[in-house]
Amino acid sequence: MKIVCEICKKEFDYPTEQIKHRHKELELDLVPPNFWSIKDYLPEFEIKFSEDGEIILPKVKVDTKLKAGNTPLIKYSKNIYLKDESKNPTGSFKDRGMTNIMNEILMHKKDKVSVVSCGSGAIAVIKYAKEYGIKSLAFVNKGISDSSKKLISNADEVHYSDTFIQSYQDFMKYSLKHEDVFWGFLNTNISYMLGLRSMAYEIVRDLKKAPDTVIIPCGSGMDIVAQNLAFREMFEKGIISKIPKIAVVEIIGGNPIRQGFEKNIEDMLYIIDDPVESKTILSNDTCFNYKKIYDMAKRDEAFFISVNDDMIDKFLKKHPRFETAYDYTSISAMAAVEEYSKNHEKETIVAVLTCKNRLEELSNERKS
Ligand SMILES: [Zn+2]
Repeated sequence: MKIVCEICKKEFDYPTEQIKHRHKELELDLVPPNFWSIKDYLPEFEIKFSEDGEIILPKVKVDTKLKAGNTPLIKYSKNIYLKDESKNPTGSFKDRGMTNIMNEILMHKKDKVSVVSCGSGAIAVIKYAKEYGIKSLAFVNKGISDSSKKLISNADEVHYSDTFIQSYQDFMKYSLKHEDVFWGFLNTNISYMLGLRSMAYEIVRDLKKAPDTVIIPCGSGMDIVAQNLAFREMFEKGIISKIPKIAVVEIIGGNPIRQGFEKNIEDMLYIIDDPVESKTILSNDTCFNYKKIYDMAKRDEAFFISVNDDMIDKFLKKHPRFETAYDYTSISAMAAVEEYSKNHEKETIVAVLTCKNRLEELSNERKS
């Protein structure tokens, strides 16, 4: 597969040349923003609908019994649906990209993968890598929850760093030095992103139309980039009559994309000096997919909803069952639903619950 660097417009072989092609001036503590676009990925990754409306996913060489996707679309109210991604094998949407990335590793004759994450990403990579007989090396910060730590301890190697930023630096230092280890950087990995697209296809299959708005919490932003691509593809093929807008959920004061967009900053990254502390991992100083989401908003295919911990707590007080089932990031999407749906009763809205509550998982294990 060929990919194009959006900075210098040159073409490169994917994935072998991706880590080697650097624009050091744009890196943040060695971490590159996502400046990659795909030259051609068809038909290797094409998702289709059969005549009876079922989704046909591209065939992977080596399949697994960990079946991601086909998560429930739950009717929440007259016009609002919830896409429950916590029902994926390791409990988050990230599983959808895993068979692609594991096949990519095997195809390139590697037997080790490195990953950096504050939880779900590493948990997904570790579990799938085991299934595929690939060794996993996880880079995480010491501040992650005990439940995540427990699941991450299943990796073949775990590198703990003092801070979130340090874990990314350590990951990049290691990955740049170790060519024998597959660079499992989910913020820029193309086949992972293409795997995530199946969610948008399922939403269209189940609704039998495009929703007006899809509300997605914004972490690394890869999910948002992937779903926008999927909706665009379906629109271009005439499967849906419009491209749904994605509501990008960020935390007030930790919302770099919204802030950068409102100031018209067209750079690869926008960095907030002093992001607020929040209970969700969504409070960020920057997003490595900033420019891609900025461009989506410019095309009027995305807009922003910012929430804070008070709004999330207020939602939980009214709907306590969400707290045991989902992580705080997913619940931020519900706070966004409360905010947005007030004035948009005529819209069909889908909110994505991205990850399960792992704390609950740990306590259930202790009980049993
Ligand atoms: Zn370049």
